[in-house]
Amino acid sequence: MALDTLTAHTPLTQLNEDEQLFRSTVRQFSRQTIAPLVRQMDDEQHFAPELIADLFSLGLMGIEIPEEYGGAGGSFFESILAVEEISAIDPSVGVLVDVQNTLCVNALLKWGTAEQKKSYLPRMATHAVAAYALSEASSGSDAFALQTRARKQGEEYILDGRKLWITNSHEAEFFIVFATVNPEAGYKGITAFLVEKEFPGFTVGKKEDKLGIRASSTCELILDECRIPAANVLGEEGKGYKIAIETLNEGRIGIGAQMLGLAQGAWNCAAKYALERKQFGKPIAEFQAVQFSLAEMATEIEATRLLVYNAARLKDAKLDFVREAAMAKYFASQVAERVASQAVEIYGGYGFVKDYPVEKFYRDAKIGKIYEGTSNMQLATIGKLVLKHFS
Ligand SMILES: Cc1cc2nc3c(=O)[nH]c(=O)nc-3n(C[C@H](O)[C@H](O)[C@H](O)COP(=O)(O)OP(=O)(O)OC[C@H]3O[C@@H](n4cnc5c(N)ncnc54)[C@H](O)[C@@H]3O)c2cc1C
Repeated sequence: MALDTLTAHTPLTQLNEDEQLFRSTVRQFSRQTIAPLVRQMDDEQHFAPELIADLFSLGLMGIEIPEEYGGAGGSFFESILAVEEISAIDPSVGVLVDVQNTLCVNALLKWGTAEQKKSYLPRMATHAVAAYALSEASSGSDAFALQTRARKQGEEYILDGRKLWITNSHEAEFFIVFATVNPEAGYKGITAFLVEKEFPGFTVGKKEDKLGIRASSTCELILDECRIPAANVLGEEGKGYKIAIETLNEGRIGIGAQMLGLAQGAWNCAAKYALERKQFGKPIAEFQAVQFSLAEMATEIEATRLLVYNAARLKDAKLDFVREAAMAKYFASQVAERVASQAVEIYGGYGFVKDYPVEKFYRDAKIGKIYEGTSNMQLATIGKLVLKHFS
């Protein structure tokens, strides 16, 4: 959709027929299939394998993969809708779908060679979970200070180093791994590689024991003389920084959607509870203080939805979206934390225990301000862009 084909008066939250159908399918699936698994997956820090199979069979792991590769041929906006709806039930499942679609599929579609697309996209559409490995122990916000080394040797690259905090790594069949071919060249040495789980010298290490999104695996990756065919360079040697920047710009909208869904999920629980819970002889929803709290939360959620949808629709329209994506992620993570916290309070003591769902939403919300660029890094991007365009 190019700028000249946009209709001037379409409300941002208005969904077309395909989008409506898609959203209601994902919503129904989340409520029927994911909801019964949430508590156990969180307690055990384990993603139910049958759920991954269901996500693939519904087409939710290859939303934007073109039909010729076996994907759903959908839009980026649909990926955002899926992450939102799933995260309203379980943000851990939301992030698995998010990393697959908004980071890994996107990177392959944009930077993959014809052979790489032919080899990886059909697998990603049907059974292969992917992960995105940029961060290391000593390089997080300063991602391009990474130390994982890549040396070319004949028709292969040899990778040595460790990655930390890699989402999906327990389930993933392959990884987009960033390494430097020349540390002296700074960001210009950074190169992206497609690394298969089975490649010699590659190991998935320790799984983190986390505060929130506990069903989502977060592991260390160990690359010890890991041999990778030269044909598995994604994009060009030395252009990995561009891939990282561009995919993370898009990925941020996905985290915004995860936090939006989380806030909506917590609100839904709080509203239902407030209508049912009686104190002083009437539902607590009839007390103005509780109603105002729910009204304020609903307003913040709506504002978040506008930011997230606008950023996603800008991306689909091939318009600039970097500022809007950073704002969406920054704001959504704030709203998610505030709304989940308020939801706990509306539940009173029941909000503080694991038998009710809001305690988990509160724990899950914290990650929104940390991964795919901390809130400070979002503010740095927003600050730079708003001042650049100010005159
Ligand atoms: C559950 C989880 C899942 C993750 N998944 C992935 C993944 O799949 N792939 C991946 O590559 N990474 C992943 N990460 C890593 C994540 O992206 C980093 O943790 C994040 O970018 C922050 O880096 P850091 O932890 O090193 O913090 P640091 O960069 O050390 O930051 C610490 C603090 O300093 C602040 N700070 C740092 N630099 C500045 C600055 N210039 N100005 C102002 N403040 C600054 C930060 O805002 C933060 O508050 C994940 C992390 C977690 C916890």
